[in-house]
Amino acid sequence: MQSITILGATGSIGRSTLDVVGQHPDKYSVFALTGQSQLKLLAQQSVEYKAKYAVVTDENSAKQLSGFIHALKGQTEVLFGEQALCDVASSSQVQVVMAAIVGAAGLLPTLSAVESSKKVLLANKESLVMAGSIFMRAVQQHSANLLPIDSEHNAIFQCLPSNNAVDSQTAVKKLILSASGGPFRTWTPKQMESVTPEQACAHPNWSMGNKISVDSASMMNKGLECIEAKWLFDTDIKNIDVLIHPQSIVHSLVQYVDGSVLAQLGNPDMRTPIAHGLAWPQRISSNVPDLDLAEIAQLTFEQPDLEAFPCLKLAYQAAEIAGDAPAVLNAANEIAVDAFLKQRLSFTNIAKVVEQTLNSFDFFEPDTLAAVQESDARARRTALSMAKQLEL
Ligand code: NDP
Ligand code: MG
Repeated sequence: MQSITILGATGSIGRSTLDVVGQHPDKYSVFALTGQSQLKLLAQQSVEYKAKYAVVTDENSAKQLSGFIHALKGQTEVLFGEQALCDVASSSQVQVVMAAIVGAAGLLPTLSAVESSKKVLLANKESLVMAGSIFMRAVQQHSANLLPIDSEHNAIFQCLPSNNAVDSQTAVKKLILSASGGPFRTWTPKQMESVTPEQACAHPNWSMGNKISVDSASMMNKGLECIEAKWLFDTDIKNIDVLIHPQSIVHSLVQYVDGSVLAQLGNPDMRTPIAHGLAWPQRISSNVPDLDLAEIAQLTFEQPDLEAFPCLKLAYQAAEIAGDAPAVLNAANEIAVDAFLKQRLSFTNIAKVVEQTLNSFDFFEPDTLAAVQESDARARRTALSMAKQLEL
């Protein structure tokens, strides 16, 4: 029996994780669940899965959550604040931590799980983008078992040789990340100028939280994923390609020097990579319907259009620059996406805010977490003022 903490339990990944965990009550029990604004849902989840702890970000939410849990006659103890998030991620009573908070807010609790040598199921790609070098050093130092949940990275992990390293010894030539292209794949930049948050969040294949849905629509998500892959698989950004595959059935590919290309296929349902990560190196069922390739009939592929989707190009540039450039990119993007979701910024100006923020920085190699956080904070301030100038 393994005890699990789910950081971001009320989100899309969190709910899918509880779905898989609930299918295997003989294997997994819930130690702690965390959320931010969906307090009724967090109360229901905590009671249904008999969580020992439920954690929210502030005292007021904690009081409300306690009331909801009490009304459901639950026993879950409520905690709040960043330290509490770190505590439930590092507790000696926990073996597995699902890192599924969205954005930079996930960095400290995820790192806390890593530093406590947990099995860490990583959905929160932003923490690797921000602090990849510090994060991966901590994984090594503390012998944490880091497993990728992002579907592309989970696919690559499944296609790599068992030692998981991409170097000349292992004969891996390229990692090929597939991308659906999002809802605006065939749109012109002009058409994209006036898209609404509803249109951007309506992903053709995946059901996800709002932030990653907007990132998928702008293709910033793929850019963040290239940086995530560089750190996870310890390879140069030049060895990572992006391939548009609108059906989202081939989740990514690994190309070997002998011409072999291995791919992982499946329906677009995050319960597959979640079940894979939870059970690894074994396999468990996930309730995902069997893949019916005859029914799908066609799998198509095309090159990404970097002019129509400048966010992908900006992410590549930040990865090439390295140092704190990816942290600056990520922070500016979080600010711009938030402004777009609040209808204060146009969709196409997301890339402009990110580009102008990157252009206003002199980059350096941050070797402490405090230095990363300082770059993140400064980039947020810069991006906020850029977004204000471009405001609708
Ligand atoms: P959601 O927006 O659906 O969920 C985010 C979760 O984080 C919620 O539980 C939310 O709480 C909580 N949260 C939000 N802000 C904060 C904060 N400041 N402090 C603490 N908790 C917070 O996102 P997703 O589940 O879609 O994505 C989660 C992560 O997984 C992201 O990093 C994303 O890139 C990654 N990912 C997601 C995929 C997907 O299919 N959804 C696929 C691959 C990666 P509440 O809702 O209660 O406010
Ligand atoms: Mg992905």
